[in-house]
Amino acid sequence: MGEERVKEEALEIIGVLQALPRLVVFDLDYTLWPFYCECCSKREMPFLYPHAMGILNALKDKGIDVAIASRSPTPDIAKTFLDKLGMRTMFVAQEIFPSWTHKTEHFQRIHRRTGVPFKSMLFFDDEGRNTEAVSKMGVTSILVDNGINIEKLRLGLRKFARASVSFNRNQVE
Ligand SMILES: [Mg+2]
Repeated sequence: MGEERVKEEALEIIGVLQALPRLVVFDLDYTLWPFYCECCSKREMPFLYPHAMGILNALKDKGIDVAIASRSPTPDIAKTFLDKLGMRTMFVAQEIFPSWTHKTEHFQRIHRRTGVPFKSMLFFDDEGRNTEAVSKMGVTSILVDNGINIEKLRLGLRKFARASVSFNRNQVE
């Protein structure tokens, strides 16, 4: 499936949901791209999982912001790769630093930077310890096993919509 087709499909998924996240946060290694960037040289040309760019473009088109939360020990390589992919200006926040907290610190910083509440965020990551820790903060979190793709996006957005319906119901009661 080409980038444009992925984007169209993502737009369709987004279009039918009642509640949407304000911010979608992505891990980098094995979520947006299929490698650990710490094992690469800055001179290499990086590439994304096949559905990643179509999904990011669809979210941007719908006015949903995107951000990065990565525990990469080589933020300089990660940022060089984002530059090479023409993605540096795409994200409203890029928190890339090694940490023993399982990204809770990354999300505190993203929240401070954007003002978006945790319950209005959706997060994709390939490590269960990260999605578990961050979901306890109130962020809808999805474990990906082979990078972000259209099926995981659908799963994530539907889970977000369900969570926000029950949240609003609880607020009313
Ligand atoms: Mg990862």
